[in-house]
Amino acid sequence: MNDFAPDSITFSTGHYIGGEVVATGERLPVARPSDLVDYADLPVATADTVDRAVTDAAQALARSGWATQPPRERARAMRRWAELIEERALELGRLEALGSTRPIAQAVTGDVASVAEGIRFFSEWADKLGGDVAATRADHLGMIVSEPYGVVGAITPWNFPLSMASWKVGPALAAGNAIVLKPSELTPFSTVRLAELAVEAGIPAGIFNVVQGNGAVTGDALSRHPDIAKLSFTGSTRTGVAVMKAAAESGIKPVTLELGGKSPQLVFADADLEKAATCIAGSLLANAGQACVAGSRLIVQRAVMAELVERLRKKLAAVIPGPTWKAATGYAPIVSEIQAQRIDRILAESARQGAQCLLGGSRIEGHGGAFYQPTLLANVTAETAAVREEVFGPVLTIQGFNEEEEGLALADHPEYGLAAGIYTADLGRGLRAMRALKAGTVWINRYSRTLDFILPTGGYKSSGIGKDLGRQAVEQNLRHKTVLIDIGG
Ligand code: NDP
Repeated sequence: MNDFAPDSITFSTGHYIGGEVVATGERLPVARPSDLVDYADLPVATADTVDRAVTDAAQALARSGWATQPPRERARAMRRWAELIEERALELGRLEALGSTRPIAQAVTGDVASVAEGIRFFSEWADKLGGDVAATRADHLGMIVSEPYGVVGAITPWNFPLSMASWKVGPALAAGNAIVLKPSELTPFSTVRLAELAVEAGIPAGIFNVVQGNGAVTGDALSRHPDIAKLSFTGSTRTGVAVMKAAAESGIKPVTLELGGKSPQLVFADADLEKAATCIAGSLLANAGQACVAGSRLIVQRAVMAELVERLRKKLAAVIPGPTWKAATGYAPIVSEIQAQRIDRILAESARQGAQCLLGGSRIEGHGGAFYQPTLLANVTAETAAVREEVFGPVLTIQGFNEEEEGLALADHPEYGLAAGIYTADLGRGLRAMRALKAGTVWINRYSRTLDFILPTGGYKSSGIGKDLGRQAVEQNLRHKTVLIDIGG
């Protein structure tokens, strides 16, 4: 992987509607996270522009036969799209790195590769979920017929722009829907390139549309559009509530929400501490903690606390921050100055509440963008801001426990239940803890997703409703019609 010059990258800066780049709307500047330099601007889609996208999508569905053609044709087009994404991995990865927090080396071999494989995974469901035949009396035939919704909407965050888009678009298209997607105004452009490649691969124009803009105007208009039959959102819990409300106010529609987390890393004294430290540090360093599943609360049995913290300290000390367009960069910038100030605020409040900083605790200076040191906070309680709130930065709080029950009680967060990590050599204990933890994903003796897209992801409690990935994501893009036929005799 080579460095690239950020100014050498060209891309479309409009909406993508009906297979065309459309530039209507007031323009907002967009900064690149690595140095906070404004490098482009984007148009803000008003309710009118959103309406145009939704109407175009409905017409494209009617015109193209996307939903009615043999499903394997749909799968074939999606497979071609996945291949094209792989062929253009460097180009897409550069665009992603330019405008987001994803370092180029990770963007190309990680994010883009996973987007292509994810789309391939979803394409394989196109002809697998047609419905069921029900057990009825012999003179009846009862069927449950699966049907796409029509035009669905999606709103995605800034932390993994391409991946998050593919998690929404893949299942929606495989099920036979058209989609209108709004990316974050902080990271808007790579999603349009993904949509352009879809059309290049043979997916009919108008099936995958992108509307650009901010949450308050464009996101809100999409959430409350009456012809959006189903909505999928990833972002903060606060915005998730607003999206759900707007969706309900404009006609009843299902809403799936992938929201924040405050996920525990529960380490028992019998665990392989080196492995646990590697997994925990990896989770904290990934995208500098700007991941919904970041394992941001260490709950460790006191007998091994000092040793584990020492191992973590060593693993977290040597990060390689830098611009995302340098191949050597291994550590992501914080997405924006506002987000960095949010981390500052939570750390300052935690310090006032008595938290003791064992590592980091401040920004890494000397770079144009906002970079944050990996930070370890001890002497915290359930009330400490960094334990209570999702930081969305590289901050790990440390709490000790003696007995299993005490550890499980600490691991349970009053608000969030997205993911959890358990580290132990005792399988029985690991499985007991798995059952007790109220989290949508539990990892035992590891902490990260794999390319097993069959495993769904989603939250308990205020971490969300519904699932991304897995068969469930495709099912959520289908609705079911009950049919009962009198066959006489
Ligand atoms: P938001 O929840 O504000 O943004 C997520 C998406 O929703 C963006 O596309 C945003 O648009 C859009 N949006 C914002 N307001 C509205 C609205 N009223 N109606 C419809 N859509 C809206 O997250 P942020 O980007 O501000 O990040 C803040 C916090 O969100 C983080 O600190 C973290 O807690 C959480 N987060 C969680 C993620 C996860 O994967 N679970 C991912 C990202 C953030 P725009 O950005 O253009 O305003």
